Amino acid sequence: MTCAGRPHLGAPLGTRDYIDTFVSEKVDQWSGDLKLLSAIATTQPHAAFAAFSHGLFCKWSFLSRTTPQVSHLFQALETIIRSEFIPSLTGQPPPNDSSRGLFGLPARFGGMGIRNPVTMSDLEFSASRKICAPLVELILERRNDYPYECLVVQFTAKSAVQQLRREQASHSVEELKGSLSATSRRAMELASEKGASNWLTSLPIEEFGFCLHKGAFMDALALRYGWSPSNIPLHCECGAIFTVEHVLSCKRGGFPIIRHNEIRDLTATLLTEVCHDVLIEPDLQPLTGEVLARATAVKTDGARLDIAVNGLWGGRFERTYMDVRVFNPHAPSNRGSSISNCYRKHENEKKRAYEQRLLEVEHSTFTPLVFSATGGMARQATTFYKRLASMLAEKRDHSYSSTLCWVRSRLAFSLLRSAIQCIRGARSSIGHAIKSSLPIDLVNAEAQLRLS
Ligand SMILES: [Zn+2]
Repeated sequence: MTCAGRPHLGAPLGTRDYIDTFVSEKVDQWSGDLKLLSAIATTQPHAAFAAFSHGLFCKWSFLSRTTPQVSHLFQALETIIRSEFIPSLTGQPPPNDSSRGLFGLPARFGGMGIRNPVTMSDLEFSASRKICAPLVELILERRNDYPYECLVVQFTAKSAVQQLRREQASHSVEELKGSLSATSRRAMELASEKGASNWLTSLPIEEFGFCLHKGAFMDALALRYGWSPSNIPLHCECGAIFTVEHVLSCKRGGFPIIRHNEIRDLTATLLTEVCHDVLIEPDLQPLTGEVLARATAVKTDGARLDIAVNGLWGGRFERTYMDVRVFNPHAPSNRGSSISNCYRKHENEKKRAYEQRLLEVEHSTFTPLVFSATGGMARQATTFYKRLASMLAEKRDHSYSSTLCWVRSRLAFSLLRSAIQCIRGARSSIGHAIKSSLPIDLVNAEAQLRLS
């Protein structure tokens, strides 16, 4: 029997030839789409990446799950991904094997989720077969119900498949680490942190500020993978050699303060939606004889923290103070420590400075909000934003998971834009002189006006 609806396929329906011809036709069509997307990526890389990961990729992913032994037919797609799509997206030459492996990892493991269609095909098919086995049995038995036991079996199979994928990804990460430089390894660890990849996996929605132009997208990838951004000066305005490590901390231009204030203001704005009495930079009460045992405690009059809020953790009048710190994980003071130790160190510094005074004088609690400039956050900040997302979800009548994802994306984009500003922002007016036809010397101008 030949397929009446597909006379061009020729071979009898369901035979190996039929399947191969059908898949080859699909691959030809997707190859054309992929080439077009590669051309778009040269001017709109963020939109092209979203179209790939949320659209085109899902097409051959579905075919892989439902059609056995077709992996060899996907080679044409992998060739275009490697030679055209990734170079257009990253502005880098075609990747070698280890770089290709890195880009193929899930975003939460530091990759970009651009999986190799050849190697993923058979794995996807066997995983799908395991998950769908109970449904196949029901269909063969001609059942029209969906018993609870079947749901449990499917859920267990799905969990096992997800666990297997995690283990495979972890194994690939360990293998890749051996072939990467120390800088790339550190960048990969930072990119694997929770929240550090939300800018990459979010849809580029302009309304939320989630859309990056081509330069920003390339800089974001350079920061993520430890590459040197393109077209940067040799020296910073302060005289130091211009490196990402330096400019993320350089105070010239005030960018670290802008980065800190951005996180503070975003957090305070979200808090005003769900809490009472939100204040930015509230003054602490002056000490009038209280003795703070900790030598590192801040004891000065006029001390202030970043945010104060009522009703966050407990009762309506229970006050919580927060202080934001965004540290540079590439700075010499942090470079030698593991990421978790960096977070602990900065959290403890904040707590040693303020916690005792807040507990004993203000009768309030303290939550340090510590971030890495690359998008990750410390343990207490994670707990805080989960609480905030839970309150926002209840207020807006949205799901907790989608609200938390949105909050993390907002924070990730704020930190990313701040980091890009540190690289691209003007630190001096030298070379940016504003030529005005208006008189700048107001005294002389006024005199001239009187004379005339
Ligand atoms: Zn500098």
